[in-house]
This record gives sequence, structure tokens and C-alpha cells, in this order.
Amino acid sequence: MTTEGPHFEVYAVRYATREARSGEHFYGHDPHDSPMPMDYFVWAAVSEQYTVVIDTGFTAEVAARRGRTHLRCPTEVLRELGIDSGEVPLVILTHFHYDHVGNLEKFPAATFVVQEEEMRFWTGRYAGRPHFRGTIEPEDVLHLVCENFAGRLRFVDSSEEVVPGIEVHRTGGHSSGLQIVRVKTARGNVVLASDVTHFYANIEQDRPSSIVTDLARMYGAFDIVHSLADSPAHVVPGHDPLVMERFPPARDGLEGVAVRIA
Ligand SMILES: [Zn+2]
Repeated sequence: MTTEGPHFEVYAVRYATREARSGEHFYGHDPHDSPMPMDYFVWAAVSEQYTVVIDTGFTAEVAARRGRTHLRCPTEVLRELGIDSGEVPLVILTHFHYDHVGNLEKFPAATFVVQEEEMRFWTGRYAGRPHFRGTIEPEDVLHLVCENFAGRLRFVDSSEEVVPGIEVHRTGGHSSGLQIVRVKTARGNVVLASDVTHFYANIEQDRPSSIVTDLARMYGAFDIVHSLADSPAHVVPGHDPLVMERFPPARDGLEGVAVRIA
């Protein structure tokens, strides 16, 4: 499918992984508690005119502290895709959880696109409460506060086209101001759904994930994703190892490391 206007190529970069069980991944419980590993990604959208990185992963140091298997720094893979993190002008941060906003200092030229609601939440009264506190690294939030004073945050309130062909849409739910990214590609509108749906199973079975800020909005987020993607095959979940199987390697030698989504 083609649409008018600029088209982006979209990549998913797998930088970390962990063993887990299905019972951890669904709100409430999973009656068939079984092994269900989880991958960690950043994404990139590239056209002739624009290079946009979506999320920035976490560092090896944070991985060691949290018991995650850090495979590689996402910026090293981006470099192999021809993207120099030191020069990337625009980074969209889907939300502020630790696995999405580490490595920020490796993007010194970037403006960071954030939702006002997400910033408000993590600088607000509930950020330090137990259920929320464990999902962020305070240093990342501090870094973003400093970036704001440096004039390098671009705030969005709900939905916006950040460059021609790339839109962000706030869904909330999993985190207070979670946003997703719709990208116009040669095969239609792809939605990088981030943690609206950690796995294909969450959205396909209408079962939200276990990390919740607002459960009703998590269901609403599924509806928003469906409304924005050209088909279910255009939805890219935030943490599903199946992404590496459903799409081809970005190029030879990057099997298991980076795939080309469109
Ligand atoms: Zn995540």
C-alpha cells in the first residue's frame, strides 16, 4: 500500500532481553503461567529528509542492577544502520520508564519529544510511590528536567505531527502520558505501539499488561492503536521477541539484532 507524501523506513533494534513468565505480563493473572521471555527495543524512522529515533533504551549498568541481559548499546546498532546518535536531531520518548529513556546523553544534538502529561506525572506527587518508583531511574527524569531548562524538550499535549509523516498520539494507561508513534511507510501506516502492548498477545487477546497507571485507559489505548494502524500487521509491540521473527533482518549480519519493519 502506498500513500502520498514522504515515506519512512522503520527499524527495530533489539538491545536487551530477559527470561520471564507469562504470569508477569498480564494484568490480573495468567492461568497458563509458562516461560515468556521479553526483549527490549529502540526504533528508528528514516527518510531522505529526516532521521527520528524512538526511545533510547537502558545502559549496561542499569541492566546489571536490574538483572536484565544487556546485549549491546542501542546506539552501536544505530551506527551500523548509518545513524550517528551524536547527530540525531529528533528523539521521541514514548514514556519515561527506565527501559525507554536511558542513554540520553548519547544524543547531545537531539530535541526530545515528550508528552506534557508524562513529564507532569514523573515530577509530581505520585512518582515516588512504590508501584511507580520501581519503573524509572530518577537520574533519567533529572536529565530530562535539565534538558527542559536547556530548551531541548518539545512538549506535546495529546496528538501532533512532529515531522511530515510521523505523528505521536497520547494514550496513557500503562504510564500516565504514554504516547505511540504512527509512521507513514511504503507499506502503509505503521504504529510503533511501545508499551500499549508489550506483546502481540496483549492487544490481540484484549489483555492489558501488568504495569498499570489507569486500566480503563489501557483498554482505550488498544482502541487508539487499532484506529491508527492500517491493519493488525502494522502494529509493532514494545517488547515481543516475535518482532525479530516477523520482520527481516535490517541487513546481512544483523540477524537477531535489528529488523526492518517497513
Ligand atoms: Zn517498556
